[in-house]
Amino acid sequence: MKKIALAIHGGAGTLVKGMMTPEKESLYKEVLESALHMGYHLLKSGFSAVDAVEASVKALEDSHLFNAGKGSVFTSEGKHEMDASIMDGKTLKAGAVSLVSGIKNPISLARDVMEKSEHVFLASKGAMQFAEKLKYHFEDENYFYDEFRYQQWQEIRGTESFKLDHSVKKDSKFGTVGAVACDSSGNLAAATSTGGMTNKQFGRVGDSPMIGAGNYANNKTCAVSCTGSGEYFIRGVVAYDLSCLMEYKNLSLKDAAKELIHNRLLNIGGDGGLIAVDAHGNITMPFNTEGMYRASKESDGAEQISIYAN
Ligand code: ASP
Repeated sequence: MKKIALAIHGGAGTLVKGMMTPEKESLYKEVLESALHMGYHLLKSGFSAVDAVEASVKALEDSHLFNAGKGSVFTSEGKHEMDASIMDGKTLKAGAVSLVSGIKNPISLARDVMEKSEHVFLASKGAMQFAEKLKYHFEDENYFYDEFRYQQWQEIRGTESFKLDHSVKKDSKFGTVGAVACDSSGNLAAATSTGGMTNKQFGRVGDSPMIGAGNYANNKTCAVSCTGSGEYFIRGVVAYDLSCLMEYKNLSLKDAAKELIHNRLLNIGGDGGLIAVDAHGNITMPFNTEGMYRASKESDGAEQISIYAN
């Protein structure tokens, strides 16, 4: 059996230590830990990397703490429009949805697009109709209501500005969630899910559901899930660029990720981070912001749950 490895994130950004109470911090860590264990347990029991990343992301989507699923931010119209994507590094199959509402676990819908449709990407009404056909249960608005997110929206409601999730510095904190895994057969997978940005214009789509921008997996190189200012991750084609640096320039996972987050992304004005794993089970989780909710576990037992830079 090969080495197994799983990493998850709950967003990167300006997580100023003083703004976080010890109670809040342990709540975040508890949810990260249980999402990590959920996916890791599947890997350990022989399930695929795709199963593991879906399970971990679902657990994060089910928590109001993170900006995905239940905890999704409000759009300029006071609604929730969610984006998600998943990719299987063994087959290079991928599935993505954007602008969906009422769906408890957008990541499962993305997986269904990958496995039960002829397409890669379904958006808006088309994605919702696909969910209806598969008999998805639609939650009402109340399920997604969170007082904290609502107040964030009130701060900038009616203005032209939009901001990244729960920032303490007005415009720099993200809460997107993601997972990457290497299973016991050496197969890789990546999953990413988000509510996007507070007060975003309706119809705005970020990097998270875009294969190659916020999410990518290829057994030859890596599986990667990004978080940060989506527009820059799209322009930098960050997730695919990580894979390219490994494939065409022979960089290690760690060096390639460092080059992207601390050089290429910064050079175009973007901030955020990523989590990535390669087929040897190596994990890297760089970010150029003050913090990134993150956790990882490898088969040699090493487990990490962190928020701030060390
Ligand atoms: N990348 C996400 C987006 O732009 C935001 C985030 O990572 O929190 O939609």
